Amino acid sequence: MSAALPASMRAVPIDWAKVRDDFPILRRKVHGKPLVYLDSANTSQKPRQVIEAVDEFYREHNANVSRAVHQLSEEATALYEGARTAMAGFLGAGHRDEIVLTSGTTMATNLVAYSFLLPRLKPGDAVLVTAMEHHADIVPWQLLCKLTGAHLKVAPIRESGELIVEKFVAALTPEVKFAGVVHVSNVLGTINPVKELARECRRRGIPLLVDGSQAAPHLPLDVKSLGCDFYCVTGHKMCGPTGTGALWARRELLDAMPPFFGGGEMIRTVSFEGTTFADAPRKFEAGTPNIAGFAGLAAAVEYLSGIGMDRIAARERELLDYATPRLLAVRGLRIFGTAPEKAAVISFLIDGVHAHDLATLLDHEGVAVRSGHHCAHPLMQFYGVAATCRASLAFYNTEAEIDAFVDAIGRVRKLLA
Ligand code: PMP
Repeated sequence: MSAALPASMRAVPIDWAKVRDDFPILRRKVHGKPLVYLDSANTSQKPRQVIEAVDEFYREHNANVSRAVHQLSEEATALYEGARTAMAGFLGAGHRDEIVLTSGTTMATNLVAYSFLLPRLKPGDAVLVTAMEHHADIVPWQLLCKLTGAHLKVAPIRESGELIVEKFVAALTPEVKFAGVVHVSNVLGTINPVKELARECRRRGIPLLVDGSQAAPHLPLDVKSLGCDFYCVTGHKMCGPTGTGALWARRELLDAMPPFFGGGEMIRTVSFEGTTFADAPRKFEAGTPNIAGFAGLAAAVEYLSGIGMDRIAARERELLDYATPRLLAVRGLRIFGTAPEKAAVISFLIDGVHAHDLATLLDHEGVAVRSGHHCAHPLMQFYGVAATCRASLAFYNTEAEIDAFVDAIGRVRKLLA
């Protein structure tokens, strides 16, 4: 399975209204108004195919994985391992054993922090991140810095929300032992030039982790050609269940990494004198996983791949191009993040209106947007604001919803004026 469709199929038009019908929640009302869900960067909605896969797991296959020889356990194991295979195909991994199934991106970055990086850091070393990282790609490294005497370096961004690539490259000095970069910013929508950054890191022998949480749901991916060392995704933002995700890493890195936490499932033999571990990726998957969730994640990957990530990217670009000028036409509205290479995430503020007030009143109009710091405090500090409102679009949104959103902003503005 591959996320990119063959050229012959890309020409076949998609009936986006039919796609939208797959999402039962989008038919509901909120405060008596039709729901306009513009918070997919927070968590995406789930198509019935995913909901049914989770339901079917508990109705038909529920058992623990890899532990029993009975039929149900074999079925549960096949579904769980099926998610690994599906994710390997979706990300373009060289081998399914390069995929560690995790509870999400946060689990993946912490796994890399404690298993890979902790043994490699010493006082005076540095970890390089960018000014637009999510806390999941800042705080784990900071915790390690506290433990080891290393420090964090930050590559700056422009006012437009673009990474200043030459400053990132200049910051790759010998004390830098690791770098972490978000592929697509959850606040600004900026798509970072990961391939170029990976090339520069590789040239200097610096391992690079890419936080793909906001890229995997929106862009065709091929981790092999990106050239990074670690790639993290979270299932609930890509139409899958919460509590699922994956870490992709080069096989030789995973093989050399020790387990991060221990327990059942990840061992070869255990005695009180010592334990030997299973091979990667199982040595990183201690305990009973979210099996039903991974059955759903496999269905989500199949669903997205069936539409085609290139078509999803193109449709979301259309929606972004439709929404942006209409929002900019609202008096006093400022958009944060204007990079030309941008995903369909629009952070904004309106002069004199608090982000939370705006989001609360929009909710009463049936429009779900997120307000707050979006787990990116340093980015808020860069722009000198405490919070923004964020409308994040997905392929199941429509132009009519964007119109309803812009109209609702107009009404709310009058109320707050
Ligand atoms: N990185 C980015 C860019 C994100 O948007 C998010 C989720 N908001 C995360 C990491 C963390 O994902 P999770 O909470 O699912 O682990």
